[in-house]
Amino acid sequence: MRKSFGLVEVLKGIDLEVKQGEVFCLIGPSGSGKSTFLRCINHLEKVSSGRLSVAGELVGYQQRGDRLYELKEREVARKRRDIGMVFQRFNLFPHMTALENIVEAPVQVKGVSKAAARERARELLARVGLADKAANYPSQLSGGQQQRVAIARALAMDPKLMLFDEPTSALDPELVGDVLDVMRGLAEEGMTMVVVTHEMGFAREVGDALVFMDDGVVVESGHPRDVLTDPQHDRTKAFLSKVL
Ligand code: ATP
Ligand code: MG
Repeated sequence: MRKSFGLVEVLKGIDLEVKQGEVFCLIGPSGSGKSTFLRCINHLEKVSSGRLSVAGELVGYQQRGDRLYELKEREVARKRRDIGMVFQRFNLFPHMTALENIVEAPVQVKGVSKAAARERARELLARVGLADKAANYPSQLSGGQQQRVAIARALAMDPKLMLFDEPTSALDPELVGDVLDVMRGLAEEGMTMVVVTHEMGFAREVGDALVFMDDGVVVESGHPRDVLTDPQHDRTKAFLSKVL
Protein backbone atom coordinates (compact mmCIF):
# COMPACT_ATOMS: atom_id res chain seq x y z
CA MET A 1 0.00 0.00 0.00
CA ARG A 2 0.99 3.61 -0.51
CA LYS A 3 0.23 6.80 1.34
CA SER A 4 0.83 10.37 0.25
CA PHE A 5 0.19 13.68 1.90
CA GLY A 6 -0.39 16.03 -1.01
CA LEU A 7 2.46 15.44 -3.42
CA VAL A 8 4.71 13.86 -0.84
CA GLU A 9 4.69 10.10 -0.79
CA VAL A 10 5.34 8.92 2.76
CA LEU A 11 4.68 5.18 2.41
CA LYS A 12 6.08 3.96 -0.90
CA GLY A 13 4.73 0.50 -1.41
CA ILE A 14 4.55 -1.24 1.95
CA ASP A 15 3.77 -4.93 1.62
CA LEU A 16 3.57 -6.51 5.04
CA GLU A 17 1.50 -9.13 6.73
CA VAL A 18 0.91 -9.32 10.45
CA LYS A 19 -0.31 -12.75 11.45
CA GLN A 20 -2.86 -13.36 14.15
CA GLY A 21 -1.28 -13.70 17.57
CA GLU A 22 1.97 -12.23 16.39
CA VAL A 23 4.03 -9.46 17.96
CA PHE A 24 5.16 -7.41 15.01
CA CYS A 25 7.81 -4.83 15.77
CA LEU A 26 8.52 -1.84 13.58
CA ILE A 27 11.66 0.24 13.79
CA GLY A 28 13.14 3.03 11.72
CA PRO A 29 14.43 6.57 11.84
CA SER A 30 12.27 9.59 12.53
CA GLY A 31 10.07 10.44 9.55
CA SER A 32 10.32 6.99 7.99
CA GLY A 33 6.54 6.54 8.11
CA LYS A 34 6.03 4.25 11.12
CA SER A 35 3.25 6.29 12.74
CA THR A 36 1.60 6.89 9.38
CA PHE A 37 1.51 3.14 8.81
CA LEU A 38 -0.14 2.57 12.21
CA ARG A 39 -2.59 5.38 11.54
CA CYS A 40 -3.55 3.78 8.23
CA ILE A 41 -4.19 0.45 9.99
CA ASN A 42 -6.39 2.24 12.49
CA HIS A 43 -8.46 4.12 9.90
CA LEU A 44 -7.01 7.44 11.01
CA GLU A 45 -5.47 8.03 7.57
CA LYS A 46 -6.73 6.99 4.18
CA VAL A 47 -4.55 4.72 2.10
CA SER A 48 -3.71 6.49 -1.18
CA SER A 49 -3.36 3.37 -3.27
CA GLY A 50 -3.13 -0.33 -2.82
CA ARG A 51 -4.97 -2.21 -0.15
CA LEU A 52 -4.73 -2.81 3.54
CA SER A 53 -6.77 -5.44 5.34
CA VAL A 54 -7.30 -6.16 9.00
CA ALA A 55 -8.57 -9.61 9.96
CA GLY A 56 -9.43 -10.25 6.33
CA GLU A 57 -11.43 -7.05 5.92
CA LEU A 58 -10.32 -4.11 3.82
CA VAL A 59 -9.57 -0.93 5.73
CA GLY A 60 -11.77 1.95 4.62
CA TYR A 61 -13.52 0.12 1.80
CA GLN A 62 -15.98 -2.60 1.16
CA GLN A 63 -15.75 -4.85 -1.84
CA ARG A 64 -18.92 -5.75 -3.70
CA GLY A 65 -18.30 -7.82 -6.77
CA ASP A 66 -15.18 -6.30 -8.23
CA ARG A 67 -15.99 -2.74 -7.16
CA LEU A 68 -14.76 -1.00 -4.06
CA TYR A 69 -16.99 1.29 -2.05
CA GLU A 70 -15.68 3.73 0.49
CA LEU A 71 -17.01 3.03 3.96
CA LYS A 72 -19.13 5.64 5.69
CA GLU A 73 -17.92 7.36 8.83
CA ARG A 74 -20.17 5.25 10.99
CA GLU A 75 -18.92 1.98 9.50
CA VAL A 76 -15.33 3.10 9.94
CA ALA A 77 -16.00 3.93 13.59
CA ARG A 78 -17.44 0.46 14.07
CA LYS A 79 -14.34 -1.19 12.63
CA ARG A 80 -12.02 1.00 14.65
CA ARG A 81 -13.53 -0.39 17.85
CA ASP A 82 -11.70 -3.65 17.24
CA ILE A 83 -8.33 -1.94 17.23
CA GLY A 84 -6.70 -0.57 20.37
CA MET A 85 -4.06 2.09 20.10
CA VAL A 86 -1.54 3.33 22.63
CA PHE A 87 0.47 6.43 21.81
CA GLN A 88 3.78 7.81 22.90
CA ARG A 89 2.09 10.51 24.94
CA PHE A 90 -0.40 9.14 27.40
CA ASN A 91 -3.58 10.72 26.17
CA LEU A 92 -5.83 9.99 29.11
CA PHE A 93 -8.76 12.27 29.81
CA PRO A 94 -7.29 14.57 32.48
CA HIS A 95 -10.60 15.27 34.23
CA MET A 96 -11.39 11.59 34.77
CA THR A 97 -9.93 9.11 37.25
CA ALA A 98 -8.05 6.04 36.05
CA LEU A 99 -11.21 3.98 36.51
CA GLU A 100 -13.43 6.49 34.70
CA ASN A 101 -10.98 6.63 31.80
CA ILE A 102 -11.33 2.89 31.33
CA VAL A 103 -15.10 2.80 31.81
CA GLU A 104 -15.80 5.60 29.31
CA ALA A 105 -15.59 3.91 25.91
CA PRO A 106 -17.31 0.60 26.71
CA VAL A 107 -20.25 2.54 28.16
CA GLN A 108 -20.43 5.31 25.54
CA VAL A 109 -19.49 3.36 22.44
CA LYS A 110 -20.51 -0.22 23.15
CA GLY A 111 -23.45 0.38 25.43
CA VAL A 112 -22.04 -1.78 28.23
CA SER A 113 -23.75 -1.14 31.58
CA LYS A 114 -21.90 1.13 33.98
CA ALA A 115 -21.72 -1.57 36.64
CA ALA A 116 -20.29 -4.16 34.27
CA ALA A 117 -17.82 -1.65 32.82
CA ARG A 118 -16.62 -0.67 36.28
CA GLU A 119 -16.12 -4.27 37.30
CA ARG A 120 -14.16 -4.97 34.13
CA ALA A 121 -12.14 -1.77 34.62
CA ARG A 122 -11.11 -2.94 38.09
CA GLU A 123 -9.99 -6.28 36.68
CA LEU A 124 -8.00 -4.49 33.99
CA LEU A 125 -6.40 -2.15 36.51
CA ALA A 126 -5.35 -5.16 38.56
CA ARG A 127 -3.93 -6.78 35.48
CA VAL A 128 -1.70 -3.79 34.73
CA GLY A 129 -0.64 -3.65 38.38
CA LEU A 130 -2.67 -0.60 39.37
CA ALA A 131 -5.51 -2.00 41.46
CA ASP A 132 -4.88 0.65 44.10
CA LYS A 133 -4.91 3.62 41.69
CA ALA A 134 -8.50 3.46 40.47
CA ALA A 135 -9.42 6.79 42.02
CA ASN A 136 -6.30 8.65 40.94
CA TYR A 137 -6.46 11.32 38.26
CA PRO A 138 -3.83 11.20 35.51
CA SER A 139 -1.95 14.08 37.14
CA GLN A 140 -1.62 11.87 40.25
CA LEU A 141 0.03 9.04 38.32
CA SER A 142 3.55 8.60 37.01
CA GLY A 143 4.08 8.47 33.27
CA GLY A 144 4.49 4.72 33.38
CA GLN A 145 1.31 4.32 35.42
CA GLN A 146 -0.58 6.56 33.00
CA GLN A 147 0.65 4.48 30.11
CA ARG A 148 -0.53 1.30 31.82
CA VAL A 149 -3.96 2.90 32.34
CA ALA A 150 -3.93 3.77 28.62
CA ILE A 151 -3.28 0.11 27.82
CA ALA A 152 -6.07 -0.99 30.18
CA ARG A 153 -8.37 1.54 28.54
CA ALA A 154 -7.64 0.13 25.10
CA LEU A 155 -8.17 -3.44 26.36
CA ALA A 156 -11.56 -2.53 27.78
CA MET A 157 -12.89 -2.48 24.22
CA ASP A 158 -11.78 -6.11 23.68
CA PRO A 159 -9.67 -5.28 20.65
CA LYS A 160 -8.57 -7.91 18.17
CA LEU A 161 -5.43 -5.96 17.45
CA MET A 162 -3.33 -3.61 19.54
CA LEU A 163 -1.17 -0.89 18.02
CA PHE A 164 1.59 0.68 20.08
CA ASP A 165 3.35 3.80 18.83
CA GLU A 166 6.56 4.21 20.83
CA PRO A 167 4.70 3.58 24.08
CA THR A 168 7.77 3.90 26.28
CA SER A 169 9.83 6.55 24.56
CA ALA A 170 8.45 9.43 26.60
CA LEU A 171 9.06 7.63 29.91
CA ASP A 172 11.86 7.95 32.40
CA PRO A 173 14.07 4.87 32.04
CA GLU A 174 13.06 3.37 35.39
CA LEU A 175 9.39 3.36 34.35
CA VAL A 176 9.86 1.62 31.02
CA GLY A 177 10.11 -1.91 32.43
CA ASP A 178 6.64 -1.97 34.00
CA VAL A 179 5.01 -0.95 30.73
CA LEU A 180 7.00 -3.50 28.74
CA ASP A 181 6.03 -6.18 31.28
CA VAL A 182 2.35 -5.44 30.67
CA MET A 183 2.94 -5.67 26.92
CA ARG A 184 4.85 -8.92 27.35
CA GLY A 185 1.91 -10.34 29.33
CA LEU A 186 -0.46 -9.38 26.54
CA ALA A 187 1.77 -11.05 23.99
CA GLU A 188 1.83 -14.22 26.08
CA GLU A 189 -1.95 -14.25 26.10
CA GLY A 190 -1.91 -14.27 22.32
CA MET A 191 -2.83 -10.67 21.52
CA THR A 192 -1.92 -9.58 18.01
CA MET A 193 0.29 -6.53 18.38
CA VAL A 194 2.04 -4.07 16.09
CA VAL A 195 4.65 -2.26 18.12
CA VAL A 196 6.72 0.71 17.01
CA THR A 197 9.55 0.69 19.48
CA HIS A 198 13.21 1.26 19.89
CA GLU A 199 13.34 -1.13 22.84
CA MET A 200 15.46 -3.73 21.10
CA GLY A 201 15.48 -6.02 24.13
CA PHE A 202 11.70 -6.21 23.93
CA ALA A 203 11.78 -6.80 20.17
CA ARG A 204 14.32 -9.57 20.59
CA GLU A 205 12.61 -11.35 23.48
CA VAL A 206 8.95 -10.85 22.65
CA GLY A 207 8.81 -10.05 18.93
CA ASP A 208 7.92 -12.61 16.29
CA ALA A 209 8.84 -10.31 13.43
CA LEU A 210 10.92 -7.18 13.11
CA VAL A 211 10.69 -4.73 10.24
CA PHE A 212 13.14 -1.94 9.59
CA MET A 213 11.61 0.93 7.62
CA ASP A 214 13.43 3.88 6.15
CA ASP A 215 12.04 6.68 4.02
CA GLY A 216 8.70 4.96 3.45
CA VAL A 217 10.00 1.58 2.36
CA VAL A 218 10.66 -1.69 4.14
CA VAL A 219 14.41 -2.10 4.02
CA GLU A 220 14.63 -5.36 5.89
CA SER A 221 12.40 -7.74 7.78
CA GLY A 222 12.69 -11.06 9.49
CA HIS A 223 12.86 -12.71 12.86
CA PRO A 224 14.05 -10.13 15.40
CA ARG A 225 17.03 -12.27 16.37
CA ASP A 226 18.21 -12.45 12.78
CA VAL A 227 17.65 -8.79 11.96
CA LEU A 228 19.29 -7.63 15.18
CA THR A 229 22.30 -9.90 15.15
CA ASP A 230 22.90 -10.16 11.44
CA PRO A 231 21.40 -7.20 9.56
CA GLN A 232 21.83 -7.53 5.81
CA HIS A 233 21.56 -3.94 4.67
CA ASP A 234 23.90 -1.06 5.34
CA ARG A 235 21.01 1.21 6.29
CA THR A 236 19.82 -1.30 8.89
CA LYS A 237 23.35 -1.67 10.26
CA ALA A 238 23.79 2.08 10.50
CA PHE A 239 20.45 2.50 12.28
CA LEU A 240 21.05 -0.35 14.72
CA SER A 241 24.49 0.93 15.59
CA LYS A 242 22.78 4.08 16.85
CA VAL A 243 20.01 2.46 18.89
CA LEU A 244 21.63 -0.70 20.25
P1 ATP B 1 8.95 9.40 14.32
O1 ATP B 1 9.96 8.33 14.65
O2 ATP B 1 9.56 10.76 14.42
O3 ATP B 1 7.68 9.27 15.08
P2 ATP B 1 7.64 8.24 11.99
O4 ATP B 1 8.44 7.15 11.37
O5 ATP B 1 6.52 7.85 12.86
O6 ATP B 1 8.63 9.23 12.74
P3 ATP B 1 5.63 9.61 10.46
O7 ATP B 1 5.07 10.38 11.59
O8 ATP B 1 4.85 8.47 9.94
O9 ATP B 1 7.11 9.13 10.78
O10 ATP B 1 5.89 10.63 9.29
C1 ATP B 1 6.39 10.24 8.03
C2 ATP B 1 6.45 11.44 7.12
O11 ATP B 1 5.12 11.86 6.82
C3 ATP B 1 7.16 12.65 7.72
O12 ATP B 1 7.96 13.23 6.72
C4 ATP B 1 6.02 13.55 8.12
O13 ATP B 1 6.41 14.89 8.03
C5 ATP B 1 4.95 13.23 7.09
N1 ATP B 1 3.60 13.41 7.61
C6 ATP B 1 3.03 12.73 8.62
N2 ATP B 1 1.76 13.12 8.83
C7 ATP B 1 1.51 14.10 7.93
C8 ATP B 1 0.39 14.92 7.63
N3 ATP B 1 -0.77 14.79 8.30
N4 ATP B 1 0.51 15.82 6.63
C9 ATP B 1 1.66 15.93 5.93
N5 ATP B 1 2.76 15.19 6.16
C10 ATP B 1 2.70 14.29 7.14
MG1 MG C 1 6.04 8.26 14.85
